[in-house]
Amino acid sequence: MAAVKIEGKVLAQQVKEQVKQQVEQLKQQGIEPCLAVILVGDNPASSVYVAGKEKDCNECGIRSVIHRLPEKSTQQQVLDLLQTLSKDNTVHGILVQLPLPSHIDPQKIIEAIPPSKDVDGFTPVNVGKMMIGQPCFLPCTPAGCIEMIESTGVDIAGKNAVVLGRSNIVGKPAAILLTAKDATVTICHSKTKDLQEKCRQADILVCAIGKAGFVTKDMVKEGAIVVDVGINRNAEGKLCGDAAKEVEEVAGYLTPVPGGVGLMTRAMLMKNTLVAAQQVKL
Ligand code: NDP
Repeated sequence: MAAVKIEGKVLAQQVKEQVKQQVEQLKQQGIEPCLAVILVGDNPASSVYVAGKEKDCNECGIRSVIHRLPEKSTQQQVLDLLQTLSKDNTVHGILVQLPLPSHIDPQKIIEAIPPSKDVDGFTPVNVGKMMIGQPCFLPCTPAGCIEMIESTGVDIAGKNAVVLGRSNIVGKPAAILLTAKDATVTICHSKTKDLQEKCRQADILVCAIGKAGFVTKDMVKEGAIVVDVGINRNAEGKLCGDAAKEVEEVAGYLTPVPGGVGLMTRAMLMKNTLVAAQQVKL
């Protein structure tokens, strides 16, 4: 039987609708949630992502301010802008669109974002808090993955979860969040031995390696929940995930690409921005 699609579009819309309602309440109390985005250079993919974030903000009633800096901007110029935004009480969330031009150290930039405005959940303070289970801004993609898994109604506790990929923005935090939900987690990467066998043990398989169609059906346990984070182009130039199309023949649930994790990632950013604004009030 074909896998049930976990519709990112529907879930993201639900999240954004809830955010919108709470944004309206905040506005009645005189607080207008605001997300500031810094975009350095003219990477076409980054421009598309930033436009998507702006659209989401508009839908949710969140004010968005995009700071477009030229490619040649120095690291210090970005740091100066971050300092201004950090002090600006009308700005609740700050996001620096990655990747940055190669002459700028992304870690230095991320560390200059105040944790209270770090709606991407990338600063060491928020990463550390996530690790020890304290309230914090969770990184949007892994947090979106968890919501998508939970939307199936399948209890994560006690399940074997395999995360393919160990990046700081997807793989590692996804593994931490799944562990926090009481899954038994295996992290796989490019040096993993017997990858296929490990993946086949997964009740929940999170694919985040960035290789079109890498995960084939012989790597997937019958009935597994497959969360496809990958955003790739196939040979025909079409957008596709890390899971091959045939995976839908064996998986129980599958997130589509496009229309899956990407949309939930964006919705989680709106949620984090709302929370950042709500915290100011307290
Ligand atoms: P990275 O390139 O930072 O990490 C890729 C990971 O995959 C690494 O840990 C790497 O292992 C592992 N890997 C690569 N090749 C193999 C292999 N042959 N076998 C096993 N493991 C392998 O990517 P990101 O985590 O940033 O992104 C992953 C994908 O998710 C990309 O397609 C990206 O575009 C997409 N993405 C989607 C988002 C969304 O909103 N939907 C958000 C962010 C990313 P090693 O560490 O050993 O090198």
